[in-house]
Amino acid sequence: MDEHELAGQRKLFGTNGIRGVVGRDMNVSLALGIGCAIGTLFKGEIVIGTDSRTSNEMLKNAVISGLLSTGCDVRDVGLAPTPSVQYSVAKSDARAGVVITASHNPPEFNGIKVIDSDGTELYFTKELEIEKIYFSKRYAEMSWDNVGKLVRDHSANERYAAGIEKLVDANEISRAKLKVVIDCANGVGGLVTPKLMSDFGVHVITLNAQPHGSFPGHPSEPTPENLVDLMNKVVAEGASFGIALDGDADRAIFIDEDGGYVTGDKSFAILAGYLCSKHPGSTVVSTVATSDCVSDMVRKYGGRIVQTRVGSPVVARKMMELGAIFGGEENGGLIYGRHQYCRDAAMTSALMAQAVAERGAFGALLRELPVYYQAKLKTECPNDKKKAVLQALISECAGKKVDLTDGVKVFEGDNWVIVRPSGTEPIFRVFSQSRTEEGAVQLANAYLERLKRIISSIS
Ligand code: MG
Repeated sequence: MDEHELAGQRKLFGTNGIRGVVGRDMNVSLALGIGCAIGTLFKGEIVIGTDSRTSNEMLKNAVISGLLSTGCDVRDVGLAPTPSVQYSVAKSDARAGVVITASHNPPEFNGIKVIDSDGTELYFTKELEIEKIYFSKRYAEMSWDNVGKLVRDHSANERYAAGIEKLVDANEISRAKLKVVIDCANGVGGLVTPKLMSDFGVHVITLNAQPHGSFPGHPSEPTPENLVDLMNKVVAEGASFGIALDGDADRAIFIDEDGGYVTGDKSFAILAGYLCSKHPGSTVVSTVATSDCVSDMVRKYGGRIVQTRVGSPVVARKMMELGAIFGGEENGGLIYGRHQYCRDAAMTSALMAQAVAERGAFGALLRELPVYYQAKLKTECPNDKKKAVLQALISECAGKKVDLTDGVKVFEGDNWVIVRPSGTEPIFRVFSQSRTEEGAVQLANAYLERLKRIISSIS
């Protein structure tokens, strides 16, 4: 069984932990059982934190009860960005961490995300183990004298911010007299990033900085539609740039000084290039679906690029293995290896402030990037057909240059297209890149048609 099929065996965990609508498929009994299963698997001390959702205390306390019943000691760090909980786990003797979050999903959702002892997102093989324990109900239930102890930790976010401050040149940022507008989306990022930037001498203006479970400002996904106020505010204030955080503050999206939305592949390329220029010979890890603007910038500054399958846990693990300096994906989830091997919006924001301070302006960093266009399409395909469909497509591409790291990536001259079966949904995704917009659209359409033909021919 390959990794895709194995990952597809998970019944509860998806690409980002267990997610569901509260009161429907995400409830106290599930949280309690998952807490029992996590405790049974990991034993020892477990760190737990939450984002700002209305159901955070309800689900957190259920998970805590489950953990305590199995003899685990629990350290509750309260409201915290996901990377702050990860930092707490990595920098302590904790055996694992739990984050109650649904990241950027609508307010009715919540989720349970598990963190491994090294602070990285749990790999799907261990998620399968948790599910196995959960469905068998074989929990390590302790007697009265062996139940775990609960402590509250009120300084986790401060320690996390201090860890970031050590990794940038605060004096250099301060000398640049930057003005930055930060939109925290009423998530937990408001508890860390604005103060961190203020500590660097940045003039900070905030939007939606108060954590609030119904996300009154705007939905917590940092898309262009949701960031109109931020874009306008950056222009109105004459700010150096803008930062948008997602609900649990592991991803950061930037707005340039003209109010333009900067896509995640561009901020990734800017910082990858910047870090390679500071540390020549470094390794940067991206995925096979990442825009070539990232690899071009890494090579331009003497770095090495390594590409993995899609998914931040895969990228993080490859970074650890290679001692890579930087990595991530094009959704704004960027990983700075010298800090910790996880997506981190506050760390990313601090690095961007330093890059802008050093190079003079955000626009100058942006104009240096090569231009590529992408097109994304998808089509339905039953899960049990996926393997045969992919094999047929690979056979049809015989003679062409292909990369089979994740699905199939086909190179057509200077352009490429990647066709991947989703690990969680009955669909195939088609993603193309070209030097021209119409080139990208044509290529994606051509492979979508090809894929549809193959899917209907296999019965
Ligand atoms: Mg997130």
